[in-house]
Amino acid sequence: MTSIHSVVDLRSDTVSQPTDKMRARMAAAVVGDDVYGEDPTVNELEARTAAIFGKEAGLFVPSGTMGNLLAIMVHCHRRGTEALVGDLSHIFLYEQGGASHLAGVQLATLKNEQDGTFSLQELRRRIRHNDCHEPITSLVVVEQTHNICGGKVVPLAFLDELAAVIRQPGVGTGNARIALHMDGARVFNAATALGVGVERICRDFDSVSICLSKGLSAPVGSVLVGTKAFISEAHRLRKALGGGMRQVGVLAAAGLVALDEVVPLLAKDHERTKKIANAIYELKSPNITVDLETVQSNILLVEITQPKLTASDFSTRLSIVDAGEVEAGVTDKKGAGIVVKASARDWAFARVVLYHQVDDEQVELAIRKLKYVIGQYDKQWPRS
Ligand SMILES: *Cc1c(COP(=O)(O)O)cnc(C)c1O
Repeated sequence: MTSIHSVVDLRSDTVSQPTDKMRARMAAAVVGDDVYGEDPTVNELEARTAAIFGKEAGLFVPSGTMGNLLAIMVHCHRRGTEALVGDLSHIFLYEQGGASHLAGVQLATLKNEQDGTFSLQELRRRIRHNDCHEPITSLVVVEQTHNICGGKVVPLAFLDELAAVIRQPGVGTGNARIALHMDGARVFNAATALGVGVERICRDFDSVSICLSKGLSAPVGSVLVGTKAFISEAHRLRKALGGGMRQVGVLAAAGLVALDEVVPLLAKDHERTKKIANAIYELKSPNITVDLETVQSNILLVEITQPKLTASDFSTRLSIVDAGEVEAGVTDKKGAGIVVKASARDWAFARVVLYHQVDDEQVELAIRKLKYVIGQYDKQWPRS
């Protein structure tokens, strides 16, 4: 028995690796000083992305967090403003409250429904109107796909209705227009699942932040898109946030390959995610379950229904190999044990995320391990 295990890393699509083509394009990239606007590869990535999204201009930024923060800073440029975001949104939960501590903007939360939407009735009630006691509602943000809701694709009908609510005459404070921003970290996954172009999904949005480094497999970077005026302001503020980068075409080159070569393959990630979901579902375990209907893209939430078990116990167990399982044949082709990495944090579920490098063989290994571990739980805690 070899001591080197086969590792299937399903913690996040951020662990995806640059492809061989990306590395080749990166090495060959023509570069310049991007702060001077002179990096042709960055300029190409920004223009290409803007065109794909049907927007006027784009800006390459180091991270999705910076893309979202810049959008908040530009849309909420006045002092005393507020942005409305989902209470399960990445902006609210996982960006350190940058809107408040760096941009001086108050975030107000709307309760996220399980499908990643929020109540539009509630939204209407929460928009402020011309009262000097209140902050100025300047921005509403939608996350697409919705990460903590399990990679849910926020429906087009909701987006259309949201835009109609926001753009109604008389909505907002004075004639200050309320902007719509999409945290589109995984918007290409949404487009793949819906079978429509990203430009349709983002039609009514003033700005979109798109991650190249998640399922798109690039090593780093996000692109923010919007009007020329919006991008010009964001470009200015990017420098203040320390995001002015120099010969960064070497990174933008990977982004171009991501758009060309990885986006068309996202459907495979979705299929494989469903395959893992089905395998767990078919076990009909009283301890660990999945809700098949909620599996829409590359994220799967595995629910822990056994009260004596936490998500972190489950993910820890998946990450170790014991002698019993190797004897039982839960191994790769060479007889090595299987390690599956999943995310758990303090959640009531473990999160599994698929991406470019997780191929059919890795999926088979992951399923083998999941079936074994869940099977052990079912022996320990049989259906009563
Ligand atoms: C990953 C992610 C971001 C941005 O994250 P960075 O790590 O800063 O690139 C923003 N929103 C969502 C929904 C994400 O999943």
